[in-house]
Amino acid sequence: AAIIEIENLSKQYRGGTKALNDVSLTIEEGEIIALLGPNGAGKTTLISIICGLVVPTGGAVRVGGHDIATDWRAARRLIGLVPQEIALEPFETVMNSVRFTRGLYGEGSDDAWIGQVLRSLALWDKRDTPTKELSGGMKRRVLIAKALAHRPKVLFLDEPTAGVDVALRREMWQVVEQLRRDGVTIILTTHYLEEAEEMADRIGVIDRGRLLLIKPTAELMGEFGKKT
Ligand code: ADP
Ligand code: ADP
Repeated sequence: AAIIEIENLSKQYRGGTKALNDVSLTIEEGEIIALLGPNGAGKTTLISIICGLVVPTGGAVRVGGHDIATDWRAARRLIGLVPQEIALEPFETVMNSVRFTRGLYGEGSDDAWIGQVLRSLALWDKRDTPTKELSGGMKRRVLIAKALAHRPKVLFLDEPTAGVDVALRREMWQVVEQLRRDGVTIILTTHYLEEAEEMADRIGVIDRGRLLLIKPTAELMGEFGKKT
């Protein structure tokens, strides 16, 4: 079933920049989609609109059938966002950092679920460690755990490997593979073709606010192969 339906979405910022131009896209439950495009293409704007952080100037988005314009709260409950910036409470333990996020969504804490998330992300042994003592890769995994705390159906990863070294990039790829096994629908942005190829079921290419194409990864890579 479709979990995200995007119809003719457009966004013009106040300064006049047209960040998105008539983007339509349907994402099925359980899919991993990579949005590939250069800096300034409109990737973050697209994610921010779906997550309710930016208001579009045209078009519509439904998450789990809930229109974000009229039913934002219901839509938002289904979504977890891992932002680009690492922002954690340095003195808080891993467990409490994740618990605190869940509290923001107004639900009672569910330590059994949080424990499951921490195990899945290989953070269980660090649950009582203050976040400032974690490696960069572990901090990124804590951000993912925070975004999963309220049991979203869809997880957005905005440039999950921007500015990280090769080893950390591979670690992130493995985390996404684990989330796939857990059945989470994932939408990630990247400007590395290799990264999109490694993780995604389908790759969408965005440039200057337009979704130029969206195709199954194998099909797209086959076409790249033919051209070279
Ligand atoms: P990407 O994530 O692909 O790098 P963005 O969605 O961040 O692209 O940006 C798309 C375009 O919109 C860029 O030209 C950017 O400068 C512009 N833009 C992004 N955010 C804002 C904003 N808050 N106000 C004005 N222009 C913005
Ligand atoms: P803090 O570092 O104070 O715990 P958060 O990480 O909870 O801050 O929140 C940072 C931003 O990310 C907020 O604007 C919030 O809307 C967003 N955010 C945090 N957690 C989630 C989540 N699980 N799903 C979607 N958005 C989230």
